[in-house]
Amino acid sequence: MFFLYFVISFVPLVIFSATMNVVLENYFEGRNEQNLLYQANKLAGTIKTSNYLTDPSLSAKFLNDLDEKSVELTARIIALNADSQVIADTNRAETGKILIIPEVLDALQGTAAANLHENVGKIYASAAIDGNNGETSGAILLVYGFNEVYDLLASLSHDWFILTIIISIVIAIIVYITSSHIIRPLSRLVDSIRKIADGDLRERVNVKNKNEIGVLGNAINIMAEKLESDDSSRSEFVSNVSHELKTPLSSIKVLSESILLQDTAPEEMYKEFLQDINSEIDRMTNIINDLLSLVKLDNREAGINLKDTNLRKVLISIMKTLYPLAKVKDIELTLEADKDVIIEADETKLFLAISNLIDNAIKYTPPEGVVKVTLENDHQNAYISVADTGIGISKEEQPKIFNRFYRTDKTRDRETGGTGLGLAITHSTVLLHNGSIKVISKEGSGATFIVRLPVKQNKEDNK
Ligand code: ADP
Repeated sequence: MFFLYFVISFVPLVIFSATMNVVLENYFEGRNEQNLLYQANKLAGTIKTSNYLTDPSLSAKFLNDLDEKSVELTARIIALNADSQVIADTNRAETGKILIIPEVLDALQGTAAANLHENVGKIYASAAIDGNNGETSGAILLVYGFNEVYDLLASLSHDWFILTIIISIVIAIIVYITSSHIIRPLSRLVDSIRKIADGDLRERVNVKNKNEIGVLGNAINIMAEKLESDDSSRSEFVSNVSHELKTPLSSIKVLSESILLQDTAPEEMYKEFLQDINSEIDRMTNIINDLLSLVKLDNREAGINLKDTNLRKVLISIMKTLYPLAKVKDIELTLEADKDVIIEADETKLFLAISNLIDNAIKYTPPEGVVKVTLENDHQNAYISVADTGIGISKEEQPKIFNRFYRTDKTRDRETGGTGLGLAITHSTVLLHNGSIKVISKEGSGATFIVRLPVKQNKEDNK
């Protein structure tokens, strides 16, 4: 990451300084060439009008003029005749010699030219000197040292280089600090995830960043908490199952031993003990049946037999089976369901789930209380509510009652015959039907369970 940041910031700088040099060189070259061409043409015009080439008596003045111009332009000036012979040179070096270079030949053919000769670091600019009759009577050549510009560019690129190095160092420091700011927490995250993966479910990530890494850390912590709680609830479940089965087994053992140890016992005693043993066996059977139902619900693939189900009819048949129970306790059991509500459901599972709720309501309501079952619906959902006037459930216990084997403090020791699995079954069944369940209750003043189940969407409605 450090390397990446570095490249991203360093490479553009290098490219920038390199292109800058080329751009500047082209700029100076173009400007100078144009300027020199202009000056050469101007000079050629002056030479023509002053008759410097035709009047030999003016040659001293001519050279003097060129010298002045040369100082002004900081360029060497060479004048040539039509035969390409140097007739005046402000450096004096070439006077009398024949000078054959492309710019001079161009000028003698009537076209002015200006070019940079990079090997010598000079710009040659030429212009034709016209004769009186329209012919070309000579040429003027300006030689301008471009090395100054080269020096300037060299010193500029040196400055660029220094600047690039300084900026790179600053960027490197900033990037190092920020990347370690990101990488250190990340490697801490990775360490924690490894520990969690190795089975240390108590491990938590300690990341205080407020950025995405902090969010990730939090998510990992939540996941670890969930794993830990799943893990502990699994072992709790096994210990609960063992415990729940052990209690009736111990009773059976005590009961059977007491009969076995008695040589002669009255028949009524046998009967009574056997009845007790029988009811303990019933209890174990109930627990095992409930556990089997739960296992089936957990194993979603085991198949859920969905069919169009009329909720009102299901509720009516549940009422029929539970009515005798309510009657024994003198509880008023009512159903309010004026419309048929069709949902897609596994009727057997749903029957058991709702029965559990109504059965509980009767179980945990003292005699002469009221249990009211209501069915309502809107476009999307059906709502079944089971309200009782019983002992209620405290706020603290409400979230736990759907856990397997959970029984509230008030009911734990009671002989209600519950297994603590009923609500867990109801909860799983409702989830299996894509619904939800909630409880509204205040300790001592009844409880209302509300089940929401999605209704079957009529295909005609969707059109
Ligand atoms: P159980 O077999 O004990 O009834 P459930 O899973 O059906 O097990 O219920 C769990 C616990 O929730 C019960 O033991 C009871 O303490 C509490 N509970 C359930 N329904 C009610 C209710 N209608 N009123 C008060 N408490 C209830």
